[in-house]
Amino acid sequence: MRAIVIGAGIAGLAAALRLYQAGWETLVVERAPERRGGGYGVTFGGIGYDGAERMGVLPELKRRAFVTRELVYRKTNGQRRFALSGETIVATMGRKAFNILRGDIEAVLYEAVAEHTTIRFGTTITAVQQDANAVHVTLSDGTTERADLLIGADGLHSATRALVFGPEEAYRLDMGHSVAVYMMKERPEGLPAETTGSISAGGRTFAMMSVGDGRTAAFFGYRTDRGRAGASLDDLREIYGDMGWLVPQALDGLMTADSVYFDTISQMVVDRWSKGRVVLLGDAAWCVTLFAGYGSSLAVGGADRLGAALEHHGDDVLAALAAWEAELRPEADKKQRLGRRVKGVYAPRNPLLLELTQLPLRLASWGPVRRMVERKFQLAG
Ligand SMILES: Cc1cc2nc3c(=O)[nH]c(=O)nc-3n(C[C@H](O)[C@H](O)[C@H](O)COP(=O)(O)OP(=O)(O)OC[C@H]3O[C@@H](n4cnc5c(N)ncnc54)[C@H](O)[C@@H]3O)c2cc1C
Repeated sequence: MRAIVIGAGIAGLAAALRLYQAGWETLVVERAPERRGGGYGVTFGGIGYDGAERMGVLPELKRRAFVTRELVYRKTNGQRRFALSGETIVATMGRKAFNILRGDIEAVLYEAVAEHTTIRFGTTITAVQQDANAVHVTLSDGTTERADLLIGADGLHSATRALVFGPEEAYRLDMGHSVAVYMMKERPEGLPAETTGSISAGGRTFAMMSVGDGRTAAFFGYRTDRGRAGASLDDLREIYGDMGWLVPQALDGLMTADSVYFDTISQMVVDRWSKGRVVLLGDAAWCVTLFAGYGSSLAVGGADRLGAALEHHGDDVLAALAAWEAELRPEADKKQRLGRRVKGVYAPRNPLLLELTQLPLRLASWGPVRRMVERKFQLAG
């Protein structure tokens, strides 16, 4: 059995690994000229954790996990408001979860597939045709590949989805926020190692996180729903112009960074993830957004379960896809609902609402409550 996977992100590489383990041959097609890497810190857990364990990559992922000793919430001028300790952060995540740089998940998966899987970089998909027995995929390098299954793991703006399922606008649910993330060249002195600092005010959030091995990620997330279009990175200078602390330094770095992740925050609501022998996986199918904070985990867990379904159904690919979607959809729907709920209280403009949304965090940082939270979650974990 043979699969073509479009996209060498977390979803695509996890699918290539799991399908290899199921005895499939795969060709991965990636538009970028080389591995993209980079990214921001994410919490990895849930079905992603279990999937990674089954695929044998969990120890390496854990080895690259980073710890946050302290998460400090600051005022616009940089003054400390309150802080969460490392123990509280770990306790609220539960036992089967850890923080890791998004690019490190990609790197671990890449190392696990590189030896046995062909990855064609600098190439994209241009046409798809299918019949009862196979799918024929035309690529931008002029070749046509025949396979039993085509997996569109090409992210939020998936070309596979546009070609087979229709235009993006039919599925995109805009969440009224934009995000810009990049890796800083060095950790500023004002940010102690293994800590995160965060400022939230007037519909904007800024965060800077030390993510291990001397690396630092900077994050800008802001509302676009009332006039702040943020069409270019230059606009961020104005949007964040009144913020102090390390924000001016982060803005300078943003303008000269090698690679910036800059996009609107949108969910993908696709009513059926497969059409014949073409299936969508990861953000292309169900993007839950950073509000839900579970995208990498769902991508790995979803790929693991896709491989398991294909293994179980042998050469009946359509039956495998139907069973896989029936099993996974409730989890993805739940996380999308969570994402929509969190959106309403994320980076509020209203200062009172901001105080209210941060109240539980403030409480959790207070000694007696902190100890209670730690005990409760340790018991539950
Ligand atoms: C700021 C932010 C914070 C987040 N925080 C978390 C978190 O805390 N926890 C968590 O689990 N998740 C988080 N996520 C989400 C997570 O990063 C993604 O959901 C996850 O990585 C799944 O990605 P993917 O592989 O489906 O898509 P992507 O990572 O977008 O990968 C798609 C790949 O396909 C390639 N590609 C695109 N178009 C084409 C084409 N036409 N042809 C060929 N290749 C193509 C791209 O170059 C890329 O390599 C966060 C996301 C953001 C933006």
